[in-house]
Amino acid sequence: MADAITKTPDDIKLSMPVQFLKGVGPARAEIFAKLGVQTVGDLLEYFPRDWVFAPEPKKIDNLQIGETASILGLIESTDFKNYRRPPIFEAAVSDDTGICRIICFNGGYLRDQLHPGQAVIAWGKVGEYKHSIQLTNPKFRILDADALENKDAIDPFFFNGGVYPASNGLSSVQIKKITRPVLENLTPLVSEFYDDQFLKKMELINRKDAFQWIHLPPDEQKLAKAKRRLKFDEFFLMQLGLALRRHRNTQFASAVEMKSSDQIDTRIRKRFPFLLTDDQDKTIAEIVSDMQKPVPMNRLLQGDVGSGKTVVALYAALLAVANKTQVAIMAPTEILANQHFLSIERYLRNSDVKRVLITGGLMGSKRDEIINEIKSGQTDIIVGTVALLEKDIEFKKLGLIVIDEQHKFGVHQRASLRKDGTPHCLVMTATPIPRTLAMTVFGDLDISIIKHSPPGRGAVVTRWVAPSDRKKAYEFIRERLKAGKQAYFVYPRITGVEDEEGDIKAAIDGYQELSKVFNEFKVELLHGQMNSEKKQQIMADFRRNKIKVLVATVVIEVGLDIPNATIMVIEGADGFGLAQLHQLRGRIGRGTDKSFCFLFADKETENEIARSRLEMMERSNDGFEIAEHDLRLRGPGELFSTRQHGLPDLKIANIIDDYDLLVLARRCAFELAEKDALLTEPTHKNIRRALISKFGDSLGLADVA
Ligand code: ADP
Ligand code: MG
Repeated sequence: MADAITKTPDDIKLSMPVQFLKGVGPARAEIFAKLGVQTVGDLLEYFPRDWVFAPEPKKIDNLQIGETASILGLIESTDFKNYRRPPIFEAAVSDDTGICRIICFNGGYLRDQLHPGQAVIAWGKVGEYKHSIQLTNPKFRILDADALENKDAIDPFFFNGGVYPASNGLSSVQIKKITRPVLENLTPLVSEFYDDQFLKKMELINRKDAFQWIHLPPDEQKLAKAKRRLKFDEFFLMQLGLALRRHRNTQFASAVEMKSSDQIDTRIRKRFPFLLTDDQDKTIAEIVSDMQKPVPMNRLLQGDVGSGKTVVALYAALLAVANKTQVAIMAPTEILANQHFLSIERYLRNSDVKRVLITGGLMGSKRDEIINEIKSGQTDIIVGTVALLEKDIEFKKLGLIVIDEQHKFGVHQRASLRKDGTPHCLVMTATPIPRTLAMTVFGDLDISIIKHSPPGRGAVVTRWVAPSDRKKAYEFIRERLKAGKQAYFVYPRITGVEDEEGDIKAAIDGYQELSKVFNEFKVELLHGQMNSEKKQQIMADFRRNKIKVLVATVVIEVGLDIPNATIMVIEGADGFGLAQLHQLRGRIGRGTDKSFCFLFADKETENEIARSRLEMMERSNDGFEIAEHDLRLRGPGELFSTRQHGLPDLKIANIIDDYDLLVLARRCAFELAEKDALLTEPTHKNIRRALISKFGDSLGLADVA
C-alpha cells in the first residue's frame, strides 16, 4: 500500500481508485470521496471552478513601469482604508529581491481574503507611487503556504490554469499535482465518441483536447472550446439515456390498441356539462392518437391549476373503459385522491362505469372485497394514492394509468405500476415545467400543454401586504365574507412562536387569532397531522359553505376546487417558494367572481430573492412565466434532482445558460437512438461504454448488450 501512495502505476485506468495515484493515501482518498471523486474517471471530471491566465512571474526588482506583469511573493502587511468611499485595500508583497505595494480601489472584498503571511501571485499593471513600485488593482491567487519554498509554485502549471474547488486537507494546488500524471497519460484514457465529420459539423474539438484544456487551458479561446465540447457530451449522454429509455418503453413493450369512434367520442363528451376548450380538444386528440397505437403512451399533460386537466384525464379514462380495460388514477395525497374521486363521481352520475376509491385507511373485509372486484375485472376506474401500488392489488386488464402531480413520485413508482403489463401512461402536473426542465428530467415523455383555462374565470388580484396593513386587509376580507364568499388562510407551519414583530406564522395560533377577528363567521383549522376522517369532514363542510374561513397549512396546496372561495391569505409569504405560492393561489379564481390573494410579508425584507418572488406574484398570473423566473432565481440544481429521475448529475453544463447546446445535443442524441437504438454498431462502442458508466443500471442498458 505504501508503494501505491508514492508511485502512480504506468497503466492508469478510468476505473482505478484515486487512492492509487501518487500523492493520495487513504486519508486523502476519503476527502476525495466526499468531493464525489472515487476513481480516476471522476477526477478527470472534477472540473476547475475558475481559471487563471497570469503572465510568468517576474522578480520585483525587474518590474518595468507601464508593463503588465505578475509577481510571486509573501504578503508582509495589509491595510484597509474604510473611511474612503469606496474603501481602499492596500498590501505589501515581498520576494527575495524587493517589496511591491499593491493598491486596490473598491477592494473591500479583499479584506477577508488576504492576510499577512500568505503566499500570493498577483498580476496587473505596474506603476509607481512615491518612488516605489506598485501594482494597481491586480488580480490575485492565494497559493499554498509552502509555495515560496516549493519550486512547484513558480511552475506555471501550478499557478496557472484550473483552480479547483478545494476542501479541508486538500488544496487546489494539491489536486493539480495529483491530476498531473493523469493528464500526461490522457491518450489511452479518453476515447472519442464521434467521427471527424460530425465533430466538424458541430464545431466540436476532440475529447482528449477537451479534457486537457479544461484542466490546463493554454488560453481563453481553447478553454471556451473545451467547455463547449464537455458540455455537449454531458447533454448528449443524458439525452441519449432518455432517448433509449423511451425507446425501451415504446419499442419493446406492447399496449392495448384503443379503438375510438365518433360514437364513443360523443358518449364521453355528453358526460361534461360544458363544451371542451380548444386546448382540451387538442390535448385529447394527442392522447387518443397515442392510445390508438400498440406502443404504450408516455405523455406528460401540463397545465396550470384549474386549466381543465382532470377533464382531459377523465376523457382518456373513459376511452380506456370503452375499450374494456381498467384505469388506475394515482394522486399524491389522500385529499387529492378523494377530490379526484368526487369530481369523477360528479361527472359519472348515473353511469354504469364502476369506480372505486382506495386509500391507506381501507382495511379488512371491505378491502378484500374491493381487491377481488379489481382482480376479477368488475371495477373499471380505481382512484387512489400510492396505496394502489401495494403488492396484493392486481388488475385484470390495466389499460391506462393516470398519475397526478408526477414530480412528487419518482420514475421508479411509475415503473412499478407497470407490473401488470404495460398500460398507457398519462402524467398530469399542475406545476408548469419550464421547457428547459421538461427537456431534461421529463425528456423521455411526450408533452401536451393546456395553455388557456376555461372561459369565465374571474381575475385574481394579488397584493403584497405589509404587517402594518393587516387590519385593513382583515376588514376588506370581512366585507367579502359578509357577501357570502369564503376564504383560505395559509400558514407555513402548524405550530410555532411569535417572532419579534409579533407575526404569527403558525396555523394553530393563527386559528385562535382569526376565530376572534372573524367571530361572526365559522372558522376551522385543517392541517396534515389530523386524521383523514376529520380532514375529509372539514373539507366537505368547506365545500358545502358551512365553513367560511379555512385556516390551513399547505395541505391545501393542490387540487381543491371550490369556486366560492375567492380569498386567499398567505402568511409568512416570503418563506414560500415561487412555485408553491403560485400553486396555492391556484385554489382561488375558480369561479366567475374576482378573487384576491394577499401575501403577508414584511416589506423591509433584506432577502432579495424573496422580494423578487413576491413582486413576480403581484405582476403575473402566468404559470409558465413564473416557472421560468423561478428557475432563474434558484438555479436548476435546487428545483429538481437529476438523480431522483435516474439521470446522472450535470457537472459542467447548465440547462439554463447552455440551453442552445442542450437543444442541439438532444437532437443529435435522438437521431442516434433512432438509427442504432442498441448502440451495437462498432463506431458507437465508446458512447455505449460511457453511457453505461454514467447511467449504471437505471437505464437497463446493460441488458441491451
Ligand atoms: P385542473 O385539473 O387542471 O386543475 P379541472 O379539470 O379540475 O382543472 O377543471 C377546473 C374547473 O374547471 C372544474 O370546476 C371544471 O369543472 C371546470 N372546467 C373544466 N373544463 C371546462 C370547460 N371546458 N368549460 C368550463 N368549465 C370547465
Ligand atoms: Mg385538478
